[in-house]
Amino acid sequence: MSTVSTKPVLTRGTVVIDVEACKGCDLCIDACPPRVLEMTTHDHNSRGYRYPRLRPGCTGCQACAWICPDFCFQVYKYVTPKEIPAPSALSGDAAPSALSGSQVTGEGRTA
Ligand code: SF4
Ligand code: SF4
Repeated sequence: MSTVSTKPVLTRGTVVIDVEACKGCDLCIDACPPRVLEMTTHDHNSRGYRYPRLRPGCTGCQACAWICPDFCFQVYKYVTPKEIPAPSALSGDAAPSALSGSQVTGEGRTA
């Protein structure tokens, strides 16, 4: 019996996370209103820091991008919200290049 929910979650945006720039401060975790960011537990970047991953349900609100002191986030909003099965989006770093240009609007905060 699986304990992982596969219920689709309405998702209005996504983020690209520069995990190598992350210093593991956790600020983005509490700043995310729908609480869809979670820190890795075992994975670390090349500097030895844990980093955030995205779960389904991002609203594209950009709170993470504004609070991150190291400019790790680029935020994109879907033109049309989509239902994303929970397990398939745990990587949290769906690159915009993997998305159709018609599906996102660029609203990223760049360093
Ligand atoms: S854009 Fe908003 S909802 Fe999405 S991960 Fe960042 S803080 Fe969370
Ligand atoms: S706020 Fe930025 S530096 Fe801090 S854990 Fe989140 S992504 Fe990493």
